[in-house]
Amino acid sequence: MKRAIILLLAVAIVAAVAGVRLRETAETEPVYASRILMGTVIEITAFGPDRRATARAIDAAFAEMARIEALMGPGEQSDAVRISSADGPVEVSPETAKVLALGLEVAERSGGAFDMTLGRLKALWGIETEAPRVPSPEEIAGALEGSGAQALRLEGATAAKRNPRTEVDLGGIAKGYAVDRAAEVLAAAGIASAAVNAGGDMRLVGARPDRLWRIGIQDPRRSGAVLGTVELRDAAVVTSGDYERFFEHDGVRYHHIFDPRTGYPARTAQSVTVTAPSALLADALATALFVLGPEEGLALLEHYPGAEALIVGADAELHLSEGFEANATWR
Ligand code: AMP
Ligand code: MG
Repeated sequence: MKRAIILLLAVAIVAAVAGVRLRETAETEPVYASRILMGTVIEITAFGPDRRATARAIDAAFAEMARIEALMGPGEQSDAVRISSADGPVEVSPETAKVLALGLEVAERSGGAFDMTLGRLKALWGIETEAPRVPSPEEIAGALEGSGAQALRLEGATAAKRNPRTEVDLGGIAKGYAVDRAAEVLAAAGIASAAVNAGGDMRLVGARPDRLWRIGIQDPRRSGAVLGTVELRDAAVVTSGDYERFFEHDGVRYHHIFDPRTGYPARTAQSVTVTAPSALLADALATALFVLGPEEGLALLEHYPGAEALIVGADAELHLSEGFEANATWR
């Protein structure tokens, strides 16, 4: 009798330990999924106790990003396109108003380096199309008419353009907001540990179960190689680089981030990586800092105490804000 009880106890203990083990492996094996949205591959990695529930949460996060793309992207019904095609003020969604408000603030503080009114310039160069080309100076001057920090106004959720020719393009900021929303959907579904990566725009929920998230910073001139890594939790990491979308003509690289003062691709940096509490802010700042270059770029960061940056200059030299250095390891 006594022996039977001891045996039962032993079995129970083994089962309990095995149960713990099983739960541990379920949590340390992440669920991964990818989808093409917003012109890029979106990857989501999430850890959760129940794989099926985690997969459902990831699906909901993708659906949320598709909703933001429809609201702020180049599609006909989007708020951005509605503002561009209207003659007068347009009522936009509160979410678009939030994105526009931050974009206009960064536009003003960057002296116009960040500019959400370069829609016609972007179409002229066609960098993200099958047939990109170097336009003539006259064409560029024409495409810049009606653009600039003053070209777009926002009052509450009402947006209006000043010039009939202004075309709004939220390509430098909307992806960040979509990544934030995906992370929020995952967190609301009870996921405590996840990473959302939209082609270099990342937001991290919590840390990994075993350690911090380790994010490699792409070397802008060596595909597949990293300059170093940053270790983070609950933060956004966004990179803007001249290697992401470009074409070459007569040995010159023409990429997708324009200097609004010249209408040509910005020339002072190869890449900019920004860490910040939100991907919305990090996305806008990465584009702004890219155009401003190392000195003016790091000066703009003074306005944003939670944001840190690494700027790889046109000469490949690294320029870092103090807080960025603290989280980084170099190769
Ligand atoms: P990102 O990859 O976030 O740096 O954004 C690049 C995209 O932002 C481009 O594909 C354009 O749609 C848009 N863009 C280009 N130049 C600027 C600029 N100076 N300010 C704001 N958005 C820009
Ligand atoms: Mg950006």
